[in-house]
Amino acid sequence: MDFIDDTISEYAEVHTSAESKVLQELNRETNAKVLNPRMLSGHLQGRVLSMISHMIKPKQVLEIGTYTGYSAICLSEGLAEGGMIHTIDINDELKDIIHKYINAAGVSHKIKTYAGDALKIIPEIHETFDLVFIDADKINYLNYYNLVFDKVRQGGFILADNVLWSGKVLENRKDMDPDTLTIDDFNKKVISDDRVENVILPIRDGIMLIRKK
Ligand code: SAH
Ligand code: CA
Repeated sequence: MDFIDDTISEYAEVHTSAESKVLQELNRETNAKVLNPRMLSGHLQGRVLSMISHMIKPKQVLEIGTYTGYSAICLSEGLAEGGMIHTIDINDELKDIIHKYINAAGVSHKIKTYAGDALKIIPEIHETFDLVFIDADKINYLNYYNLVFDKVRQGGFILADNVLWSGKVLENRKDMDPDTLTIDDFNKKVISDDRVENVILPIRDGIMLIRKK
């Protein structure tokens, strides 16, 4: 996550709409109390997710990897009237902090949380999605892509986070660790998949935007 010049990142943040008070506090509490706070989307990426959500105005959203709920709250900002974010996380120790902030943000009626392994839960959610955000364990990115594909409407979108993996995708394939290999496999699968169009935004750790044709 360090391949973008710090001063450029800072300039971009200063010239990007601020986080809400609630998101700022969630960001702070996650950093103070939760393991691996680097996983939280944060100010710039959060505003990108919010902006994308406003552009798509999705009705049904699936998020794989809730963590402390930061990205779910950002994605909820652009939901269509009556829309819903379905968000899954395997770590049920996070539920208190998630619900504290979903309530504080006033969006608890728009976010449905699921605790458990996304590979098991996704097939049990019988919805058609306008937008899917893949952001859980990297080793399963291809599995998540394959699992959600038929649940995304034609013209719908899949976003995948961390697709540049701190720049490790540039290593020789033979030197890659399993997570990096899967992310590289995922990126190569998407670019060769005729059913979609895609673009990698080199924002933060890399965000893949995929549109189902
Ligand atoms: N989307 C969040 C960050 C997610 S971090 C944000 O942007 O703020 C990745 C999350 O994926 C972690 O909370 C982890 O518990 C979860 N995760 C890992 N493996 C999972 C699995 N098999 N099923 C569901 N969630 C999983
Ligand atoms: Ca992420």
